[in-house]
Order: sequence, then C-alpha cells, then structure tokens
Amino acid sequence: MARILCTHVGSLPRPAAMVPIVRGDEPEPADWESQLRSATSDLLGKQIDAGLDVINDGELSRRDYVTAARQRLSGFGTKAKSVSASDLEESPEFAARFKGRKGLLTLEKETLIENPACDGEVTYTGDGLKSLESEIERVIAVFRGHAKCNGRETDSCFFSSPSPGTIMTFFPNSGSYYKTHEEYIRALGKAMKTEYERIAASGLMLQVDCPDLAMGRHTAFKHQTTEEFRDTAALHVKVMNEALENIPADKCRIHVCWGNYPGPHDCDVPLKDVADIILTAKPRFISLEACNPGHAHEWEVFQTTKMPEDKVLLPGVLDTTTCHIEHPRLVAQRLLNYVRLVGIERVQACTDCGFSTAAGAVNVPEELVWKKMRSMVEGAAIAAREAVGGSPSKRIFFEGSCLEQKCSGGYAQSKNAEEVAAKSEKAKGL
Ligand SMILES: [Zn+2]
Repeated sequence: MARILCTHVGSLPRPAAMVPIVRGDEPEPADWESQLRSATSDLLGKQIDAGLDVINDGELSRRDYVTAARQRLSGFGTKAKSVSASDLEESPEFAARFKGRKGLLTLEKETLIENPACDGEVTYTGDGLKSLESEIERVIAVFRGHAKCNGRETDSCFFSSPSPGTIMTFFPNSGSYYKTHEEYIRALGKAMKTEYERIAASGLMLQVDCPDLAMGRHTAFKHQTTEEFRDTAALHVKVMNEALENIPADKCRIHVCWGNYPGPHDCDVPLKDVADIILTAKPRFISLEACNPGHAHEWEVFQTTKMPEDKVLLPGVLDTTTCHIEHPRLVAQRLLNYVRLVGIERVQACTDCGFSTAAGAVNVPEELVWKKMRSMVEGAAIAAREAVGGSPSKRIFFEGSCLEQKCSGGYAQSKNAEEVAAKSEKAKGL
C-alpha cells in the first residue's frame, strides 16, 4: 500500500542549556563540538522514534534560519532597521505583547531591531565555506553512524539554507554598493550557489527556505501592489533557479510560508495570487504553510492551479504556533484534500513551519512537538489507508440515528467510537 511520507520544516527546540551559546550570549565551551554531535544524535533518534521519514538536525547549531548563511557572506558592513509586518502594524494592541522581543522582524514599533545590511560586494567567503563544511560534516557523520538511521538514504536527511530573496528580506540593500534590488538579489544568488551546491554534493537533501515568496509581500514588499509583488517573486524564483542549475530537482525542496510569528496574519497574500509563481521553482518538493486558520482553506487553490507533473506537495498539517494537538483524523482529512486533487504519490505530510525558527523562541514546548509529530504520522497512515478505500466501515447507532464511521485505529477517541459501535451491535444482536 502507498505510504504518505512524513517530514517537517527544519527547526526544532534546542536543548535549553545550549540556547545562550547558540545565540552568542555565552562563549562556546571547549567540548562544544562533541555537545553538538551528541545533541544531533539525540534529535535524529527522537524524529525516527516519532515515525518521521525525512529528518534533519533541527538546525541545532543555528541562531536562526538565515543568520548562519549571512555570516558566510561578505558585504554586510552596516546596519538597518528590520522590516515590520503589516498585520502587526495594524493591530497595535495585540503587537504590544511582543514588546522587548528581539528576533529578525520588528514585531512591535517601540522595540528597535537592527539587522546587518549590505554595503559592499557580496561573496561567499573562505571562512564561510569552512563553517558550512563543518556543519555538513557533523550532520552526515552523526546520521551515518546512528544505529536508528541504518538503511536510510543520505537524501532522507535534509539541510536547509535560505533563498537569495529571504536573505534580502532580513538583510536589506543599503544602496551604497548595489544600486538596484535586481543587482543585489543577483549577487546573493551567485554567492549562495556555492552553498547550495556544497550541500547537494554531500548527498543531503537541500531545502531552500523561501518565505520571501509569501511573507515578503506583507513585510519587505508591503509598499508594492500585488502585481508588482508577483514580478518581484518571479525575479526571486528566477535567481534561485539559476543558483540551483547544477542540482537535480529531486535532490532539493523549498519551503514557503507567511512567517512563523504568532500574529493575526490577516494581511497575508492569498496563495492563489502567488501559487503559479511558486510552482515555477526548480525543486521537486514544495513545502507550503497550509493548516493554520489563515491558510487551511487554500488546498482549494489546487482545484484550479495546474501542478506540474514532477512536483510533490508537502502541505503543513501541523500548526507550529499553537499548542493545540491536531487530531490524527484532522491530519488525515487535510492530507486527503490534497490526495484527491494531485494523487497520493505527490503528497507528503509536513509542518506549517519550523518549531523554533530562532533559538530560544519556542511557541510549542518540545514535549508537545513530539506529540504533534506522532499525531501527524498516525494521520498520514489513516490518509494512506482511506485514499485507497482500504479502511473498514462500520455503522454506529446513536439513539436511532446512524452515521458512517471509518476506523482510524490507534487513537483513543476512535477506539471509543469502535467500542460504542461494538456494544451497540451486540445489543441489537447484529
Ligand atoms: Zn516558514
């Protein structure tokens, strides 16, 4: 029977003791590398125990998902105020709760956040390459030496890197070296080609993080019209595709989202306005934020948007900003919406975004992260069964009325339903 593979977007909560070091608030201890290796091994094991198929190191050693890559580039000698999000600007009473919180975005107007900005030539530095290679080497060595990873292909482990447009979203162009946005984005693409190719050459699955294609609309490009933003997004995809020219499409995936901050998100650009552009990205696998209250309805986009034959969708079925655990049946329903439209072989189960996009920023504590992951794995199994009509069906009688109940197996509420059905059938002598 066909399976629906399960994966996630990348960042996972780091062990609490490692956070101040990863954030750069405390120096690295002498045994840092061995601490990282042991924590990587631990995280790989936890993902396999939860039943995940495509896993990673949880971005353990990174402060966030863009800073590590930016630090490997030259040309960032100045600073600029970080971009803000339209939904939070429009909701100051809500945004006040983020007072003092320092991440990559300006979440609240009185908390000044400055990020490095570009004022010189962007190149991939020699030290940058050494730092990247040491990160790759750790992940590969731990993955290959892990008893639980035995028999797994190296490309079932992914390694993320930001898109040129995402680096630009957080680290803007001052205009003193590159005169136009296009010049700047092309320079970033050329430099990041080195990083993408090195990751792919290692055998790991490359994941290019592209929130610029969705979150970019209500942050860095909020001044543009939707038509203008479509042109911007199309340029970003073109530059990224050029940077991926030497990497096979089935060895890379992209992640697109509207930002993982827990905001109202009522200014998010609708998926239908950018889906056709996202689908022109070269990578075969496309991870999309798809299950939170602002985007759960957008599976409907694939009723009318033609998906190229070679693409595989990784819709988010777990919300990474809420502690409410998704019921496996809800996970299954979400997946089946896509399965019916594009076929089971072109769907994998994924999370909406990372669980800890910046070290220390944890919307969902680790204990609940694993409960959510297990629920996703169980829901994916239900969806795979029901997609081929392989699930037994029972009639349940409640005070004279009846409804059709598919067995989901394994989950307490479903078991209760089956017990009720069994008792009911016994009582009726069926
Ligand atoms: Zn994301």
